[in-house]
Amino acid sequence: MIVFFGPAGAGKSVQGQILAARHGWRWLSMGQMLRDTKDTEVLACLHKGELVPYEKTFEIMGNALQSAGDIHKVILDGFPRSVEQAEWLFESQSDHGRSIDLIIVLEVPRQEILERLRLRGRADDTPEAIDVRLGIYRKEIYPILDMCNDRGVPIVHLNGVGSVGQVHDAIEAELADRAIVPKEV
Ligand code: AMP
Repeated sequence: MIVFFGPAGAGKSVQGQILAARHGWRWLSMGQMLRDTKDTEVLACLHKGELVPYEKTFEIMGNALQSAGDIHKVILDGFPRSVEQAEWLFESQSDHGRSIDLIIVLEVPRQEILERLRLRGRADDTPEAIDVRLGIYRKEIYPILDMCNDRGVPIVHLNGVGSVGQVHDAIEAELADRAIVPKEV
């Protein structure tokens, strides 16, 4: 399992999808799966930028991990977003049989994030919802990283600024260095 961290607009989804397509892995985006539920209570949380109740996320992520079956690796995008969700991921390991190979934190300065979100213009990219989402991210990221670090999970911070291709190349190089993918000859 490879986990992408980064604030809204950091490029987690684009990078996760490219990586999955290139290696035949499964990209699991919590945000996308929540949007797909069409559940009005869930969509109301998304609209405000707030986290959806954890039970809902555990149910959705649990099913998604089960249905990934024997796919070699899954890429998590937008999960965990809290210490409780990270704990769930470790505790449910006996159900899904996957451990975290690497956490990749995509670092992008706030000004660039705001510009990217302005251009993207998704329904939940209102100034109010963006503030809530960035606030949650800043508050939750370090406790999650501390906890994963304590459990021996490798963490790498990569520069998320640059073209999609440049960032992808940096991710591939990191995965190759750690022997998660074979080195290109
Ligand atoms: P994203 O597509 O990652 O930008 O997520 C969009 C929205 O989905 C977030 O602002 C939250 O409202 C919700 N969401 C995404 N991931 C989670 C999560 N792990 N736990 C709770 N809510 C989430």
